[in-house]
Amino acid sequence: MKTAVSSCGVAVAASQEAPMQAICPKCGGVVILRVRRLMANSGNSYYWRHINDDHPCERQKPFMHFHGN
Ligand SMILES: [Zn+2]
Repeated sequence: MKTAVSSCGVAVAASQEAPMQAICPKCGGVVILRVRRLMANSGNSYYWRHINDDHPCERQKPFMHFHGN
């Protein structure tokens, strides 16, 4: 996801300045900041990812489900 909620209850977009950890606004689970390197001239893509893959929200694209790391 692109937007999570900080421990202060403030919406925080995934970015370079975002904290390493936040809370999912949908299920309240802990999410961590992840970065994905894009094509050379596209920079990096930041996003929030659940620590526990077995979270109750956003059960989408099961065929695109990445495990590991
Ligand atoms: Zn969630």
